[in-house]
Amino acid sequence: MSTLAQDLRAARSRFSVEFSPAHDPDAAARQWDAVRRIEALGPVFASVTCGAGGGSRGGTVELAGRLTRETRVRPLAHVTAVGQSVTELRAVLDDLAAAGVHDVLALRGDPDGDPAAPWVAHPEGFDHADELVRLAREQGARSVAVAAFPLGHPDSADLDADTHHLLGKVRAGADVAVAQLSLDVEDFLRLRDRFGTALAAAGLDPVPLLPGVLPLTSPRVLEVAHRLTGAREPAAVRRRLAPLAGDRAAFREEGLRLALEAGRRLREEGVEVLHLYSLDRAAAVTELVRELGLAGPGAGPDTGPDAAPAR
Ligand code: FAD
Repeated sequence: MSTLAQDLRAARSRFSVEFSPAHDPDAAARQWDAVRRIEALGPVFASVTCGAGGGSRGGTVELAGRLTRETRVRPLAHVTAVGQSVTELRAVLDDLAAAGVHDVLALRGDPDGDPAAPWVAHPEGFDHADELVRLAREQGARSVAVAAFPLGHPDSADLDADTHHLLGKVRAGADVAVAQLSLDVEDFLRLRDRFGTALAAAGLDPVPLLPGVLPLTSPRVLEVAHRLTGAREPAAVRRRLAPLAGDRAAFREEGLRLALEAGRRLREEGVEVLHLYSLDRAAAVTELVRELGLAGPGAGPDTGPDAAPAR
């Protein structure tokens, strides 16, 4: 089977999507409906989050395994080093492989409970994601993706140090990078330039780098964006959304318009594949995919209850 990087380069469709393990049966049922609708659009892959508000580790194995068994969607399982020894991490990777999941997003993660707290490694675990990348490769993972940060990771001394460590993850065996959400496309494009330049200077092959796109469909979703971006909200986003906080429909429409504008700019800049945060719902993802023409060949019509009328 092809690697994720090969699939991204072939880019039969132009988007991937993120899900999180559901916390209760009702949420799981709603999520599965979203999975089915998004499956029809042919995403390159679906990533499944883990821990730190992203669901239990067992939940990641379960949902990623179900995607493999029951859908045509290729799962990318997030694995974090938080609170786990190397032995336990080996077991997680074994469980994923046994469930038919061979692509992982290798992450250090953040401390459970308080993501902003200083990082403390498990005494028999890993300090950084590059070590987990190596372990995943040793265990036979087919593709290993890693995180990248448009503004640099908050723990990095500066952007040079940040780029140096991102390169370290590629040297360790990563073949795909997924960027943290950024509400300013220019921040992502600067990361792409830094990364591309550093790879070339090191004599390494280009590595696909995906931007994160989140349609800001409600004030609650905007809060999620603040959590992911360290509340870096461009003035234009604030100016356009703040006056609409009391009007659900108008807020949603403007939030989607912002995501469409970001998506168009990224595509114009030659970005091949956009990584869309679904928040386990299909409607906004479906609208973005349709409007931006990101679906794979043979994508079926959206028949969900909130399917957007053709525009
Ligand atoms: P690292 O790559 O280890 O980087 C952490 C810091 O250490 C950075 O400052 C880096 O520059 C530095 N560094 C890296 N390697 C070295 C080294 N060898 N020596 C010295 N310094 C080094 N978190 C979750 O808990 N669950 C998830 O499902 C999840 N999904 C995510 C998905 C994406 C796309 C992204 C971008 C982030 C996700 N996160 C998730 C958040 C992530 O775990 C945190 O941002 C975490 O603080 C950093 O993880 P990392 O893998 O980038 O760590």
